[in-house]
Amino acid sequence: MHLLSRPKLFAVAALLSLPLAVLATASQHLDSAKANEASTPTQPEDMEQFLTAVTRDVDSYWTGVFKDSGLPEPRVSYEWIPAGQTAASACGDENGAMGDDAAAYCPGEDTLYISQKFATDIYNGTLDRALPGSSQGYGKTIGDFSVAYIVAHEYAHQVQDELGLLQGGQRPATVNIELQADCYAGTWAKSAYQENRLEEGDVQEALDAALAVGDFDAANPSHHGTPEQRKDAWSTGFQVGDPSSCSQYVAS
Ligand SMILES: [Zn+2]
Repeated sequence: MHLLSRPKLFAVAALLSLPLAVLATASQHLDSAKANEASTPTQPEDMEQFLTAVTRDVDSYWTGVFKDSGLPEPRVSYEWIPAGQTAASACGDENGAMGDDAAAYCPGEDTLYISQKFATDIYNGTLDRALPGSSQGYGKTIGDFSVAYIVAHEYAHQVQDELGLLQGGQRPATVNIELQADCYAGTWAKSAYQENRLEEGDVQEALDAALAVGDFDAANPSHHGTPEQRKDAWSTGFQVGDPSSCSQYVAS
């Protein structure tokens, strides 16, 4: 488990441009075999480091947004579950475990849990036949920004938690919470775009991933939004770039 900690004043630097080796020094459980693996130039050298780099970037963005609103900065921990292992979590399965399919934010623990295998499968498109949208021909998951979309979406749940949206009797329906999180993921991406930090194809990777994870089970209380709804929510955030534009998804 890692707690994000930052100097009080930090340059609004392009955190993703930090060499991965620098970030690796902060890692507590480096998988050395994996870290030494040769990789293609466009592939993150190590999924654990990539997840951390994206999380730091998203965290930096939301810290700025909260600061501008006079709010204390969001505090979040993260755990990138190694393949084949589980993490104990109050939000886990019946055994209290998060495993290879984990991509979640646990409000009670203020912690992001993402399985490294899940993230790698998203990166490679291996999960496309299992995801509700892509298995029906909607979108696909491929590339680093499809993973970044997932990270930014999960971090957005932390933002919602900080804003008090996840507790109490006034909690919006799950689909509304999820679409707002997609919209928030889009506003972060817009900030990276405006800082010239996106690569060719990144926006399409996020749009395709949002389509891929959409589902059609609107009668299910855990419905997260249809592929088109999820893509549209991310697009709204990306086009407007202002988190307040995402309030529409939870307005009663
Ligand atoms: Zn979600």
